Amino acid sequence: MPRRIDTYLEKLLPEDKLDFYGVVRDFSDSEIAPKLLGWEREHILVPDDAIAKMAELGLFGLPIEERYGGQGGDHTDLVLMGLALGYHSHSVAITPGAAISLGAKPVQLCGTEAQKSEHLPDLAAGKRMFVFGLSEPGRGSDAANPQVTAKKTANGWVLSGEKCWSTNAAWSSHVVVHALTNPDGPNGKRSTCLIVPMDANGVHYQEMSGKKVWQQSSTGSIVFDGVEVPHDAVLGEENGGFKVMVTTLNGGRLFIAALALSSLAFALDKTRQYAEERIQFHDKPIGRFQRVQDVIIDMDIALERGLYWLLQLCREFEAGTITRESAAKVKVDCSRSASELVALAMEVCGGVACLDEFGLIRHHDDLFVTRVGEGSNFALKDLIVRPLRDV
Ligand SMILES: Cc1cc2nc3c(=O)[nH]c(=O)nc-3n(C[C@H](O)[C@H](O)[C@H](O)COP(=O)(O)OP(=O)(O)OC[C@H]3O[C@@H](n4cnc5c(N)ncnc54)[C@H](O)[C@@H]3O)c2cc1C
Repeated sequence: MPRRIDTYLEKLLPEDKLDFYGVVRDFSDSEIAPKLLGWEREHILVPDDAIAKMAELGLFGLPIEERYGGQGGDHTDLVLMGLALGYHSHSVAITPGAAISLGAKPVQLCGTEAQKSEHLPDLAAGKRMFVFGLSEPGRGSDAANPQVTAKKTANGWVLSGEKCWSTNAAWSSHVVVHALTNPDGPNGKRSTCLIVPMDANGVHYQEMSGKKVWQQSSTGSIVFDGVEVPHDAVLGEENGGFKVMVTTLNGGRLFIAALALSSLAFALDKTRQYAEERIQFHDKPIGRFQRVQDVIIDMDIALERGLYWLLQLCREFEAGTITRESAAKVKVDCSRSASELVALAMEVCGGVACLDEFGLIRHHDDLFVTRVGEGSNFALKDLIVRPLRDV
């Protein structure tokens, strides 16, 4: 059965983008889908050889300029990768996804030429990964006011405190730490981003345990115990950490929206197939029931609408015209509608939907992260409402 999402993408994309999407989709079908259940049941993170294969495909360097060894692509490519890999597994998709949108992007957009030359070639090749260290045990939605501190000394900076929920921490060479550097400064001018090697003295990482979502994705807690870094570790401007954070999150939220739509695309295909194959009540498929059809139609509408919107915002991101509100809105809408509809899709499929091998329960659980991650939807509404109050 052809994927419904492909029929929309065929209308929306030029040939080269469609070809790229097809390559990643086929890789996802052949290299990820058959192995996923085994990884889940064995409770293992995305294996090194799968990461190496994604690196071979060039996925870690998608939007990085060719002069730094990247593919010279754009944010649309990143989102297409999210749609293709996320269809089977958010955990797999977020591995290159976060490595790019939260790891390499801030260096690309805010780094000095020296930082770009030092890091981008290895990031593009998937030989190193950067973690984006924003969230802390005591700071989630209020990430603009970190409790991790960086104190300036004659030789550079000394960092203390803890970051958590750091995606890709297990595989990362460096963490971009958003730290308090100017406690008495005005709003948006209190923090600085610093590039810290994971093997620096005083950096202690451990994998967070007990996580039941994105189960093959690495999520770490990183403690900084008097970690010293030189002056040139600053990414962006001193006390300009908020700007780095906002620039990074706009792109990241589009990727999260893509993951939500990938779940919707999977659930739509799974449900329409099941609704035709499940025969009861005098040899009728359950797809003949109007209430079942309603769920399928609503998924189809939400998917088409979300794709048009998301791909338009990718163009705005590339043009530098995207607003924080629009990136937040598409993330809120896609994650909310996908979450509601995938729960209904499970109901349409009945008991079988709660089996891991059926696939829907994985998407149902993983969608939670799309509602809470990169700004929880509730908190993002504070942002979205601002222009509406401006009357
Ligand atoms: C699997 C996973 C991966 C992650 N990866 C990363 C990563 O790589 N890097 C990183 O820095 N962080 C990461 N995060 C953290 C994520 O960004 C935070 O979970 C998110 O910002 C919310 O913070 P919190 O969980 O501390 O919730 P809190 O800030 O404690 O908020 C809890 C709830 O309170 C409500 N709330 C909070 N503020 C408001 C408000 N202003 N208005 C209305 N309601 C509000 C919301 O319902 C919110 O969900 C990850 C999280 C998960 C689960």
